[in-house]
Amino acid sequence: MTLDHTHDPAARSWLASANAPGCDFPIQNLPFAVLRRRGSGEAFRGAVAIGDQALDLAALAGTGLAQGAAADALALAAQPALNAFMAAGPEAWRTLRHALFALLLGGAADESAVRACLLPLDAVEYTLPARVGDYTDFYTSIDHARNAIRIIMPNAEVTPNFRWLPQAYHGRASTLGVSGQQFHRPHGQVRPPGASAPVFQPCAALDYECELGLWIGPGNPAGQPIPMGQAEDQLFGITLLNDWSARDIQMWEMAPLGPFHAKNFATTVSPWIVTAEALAPFRVAWTRAEGEPQPLAYLDSAANRAQGAIDIRLEVWLETDQARQQGRGPARLSATSFRHQYWTAAQMITHHAAGGCSLQPGDLLGSGTISGPGPGEAGALLELAHGGQKPVDVGGGEQRGFLQDGDTVILHGWCERKGAMRIGFGECRGLVLPAVQA
Ligand code: CA
Repeated sequence: MTLDHTHDPAARSWLASANAPGCDFPIQNLPFAVLRRRGSGEAFRGAVAIGDQALDLAALAGTGLAQGAAADALALAAQPALNAFMAAGPEAWRTLRHALFALLLGGAADESAVRACLLPLDAVEYTLPARVGDYTDFYTSIDHARNAIRIIMPNAEVTPNFRWLPQAYHGRASTLGVSGQQFHRPHGQVRPPGASAPVFQPCAALDYECELGLWIGPGNPAGQPIPMGQAEDQLFGITLLNDWSARDIQMWEMAPLGPFHAKNFATTVSPWIVTAEALAPFRVAWTRAEGEPQPLAYLDSAANRAQGAIDIRLEVWLETDQARQQGRGPARLSATSFRHQYWTAAQMITHHAAGGCSLQPGDLLGSGTISGPGPGEAGALLELAHGGQKPVDVGGGEQRGFLQDGDTVILHGWCERKGAMRIGFGECRGLVLPAVQA
């Protein structure tokens, strides 16, 4: 992860909104999404965010301003899904980043031609940034794992395998949605406390999970592992991800296999993929506390120890129906960082492929719920409200043990540190609708 002129915190765009303090999309970020003018029925195409605008990459390709390898990469990124661009690999990603940076930099010669390719962010609609062939959800926060198990057994420890492998289950790609997703409260089997038989009913313990989505680049043929030294080349970029979870259904159905109805009704991602390249200034050392086992050799590398973790700040906000009606705005439920995760992105990717599994361009890996060590750092309501037993204050005299119909959950993410430009992820928003009548 080397830094270059595109990470220079002094760089400024000719677009004033990109230089505003606190802007998620300065010229150092340049995240990718797939969008069109809202309500237009136009073809979706790739775009890059800059300030309060989206640079329409299909329009930009039509100007002929990009040349050679940059033009080739631009043609891939302009498509209605980013899979081909993801497949092209780090050299193509970097070439296009550098070309876009040059076109958007203050003083660039072709400003007026590029300006003609901008669309206001408040006038676009998004679709998923790639066709997701497979979605896998990891479980890699030891604080989340510990908090969750202790709701059931107060002094329990996480299972021994947690400390040796990045645990995961294979999820469902068909019900993935982009920010703004609305979904009906799921149905499923639930066994009421003390009952001998389950009932089929709407979920009564609906939850969110604050995660990050890791988007896979070129991938690997079946049977060929991805060594730790090559894992970072497989990481195209990262979005916010909400793994909506039905806790009462999960509790009954999960033994001894993985979650099924509890997790397959909706998963929401933010539209903008912040590239691994843009995240380079926010890499931090990955360490294991004293007394924790060191990883097996295939999950270990000097580079991973030096800079395998990423300091991505995360917040969860909840806006109830009442808050919306009263114009009160959302309430913040928690805040933490991805840097606390027990396993890194590289370790998740390497472990995923290590058994013989093929990863494909556009595959999506959920990081698992991201909870930090301190109070107020839990990434799920299950933990914050102790399994619904201690409902949390959500403003206006309202409380939540679990989510109610009409609740909107909003995830925010950003990176900042001294000596680097702050970059953001935008938001990941989803709304709970009432259960469909049986
Ligand atoms: Ca999860």
